[in-house]
Amino acid sequence: MNCKKAGVLISASVDGELSASEEQGFLLHLSECKECRVEFDDAKKTKLIIQEKIIQFKAPDALIVAIMQLTSLNTKEPHLYE
Ligand SMILES: [Zn+2]
Repeated sequence: MNCKKAGVLISASVDGELSASEEQGFLLHLSECKECRVEFDDAKKTKLIIQEKIIQFKAPDALIVAIMQLTSLNTKEPHLYE
């Protein structure tokens, strides 16, 4: 695998979307190539930061509570209402 191919796979790898054989080749390239390793680390950090921002800004407490209530309603067994 060369850097161009690895670069294409970086974001898919961060999202866990690589096939087993793609991932194997990709990780092998990372073990041999510092540049792509740095890029991969950056991509992972970026994804984490984005996830944190989504949690912070897109899910106010009221929404989280509402989701939790919905979830607990859905998981109740029917006989609990009898
Ligand atoms: Zn590379």
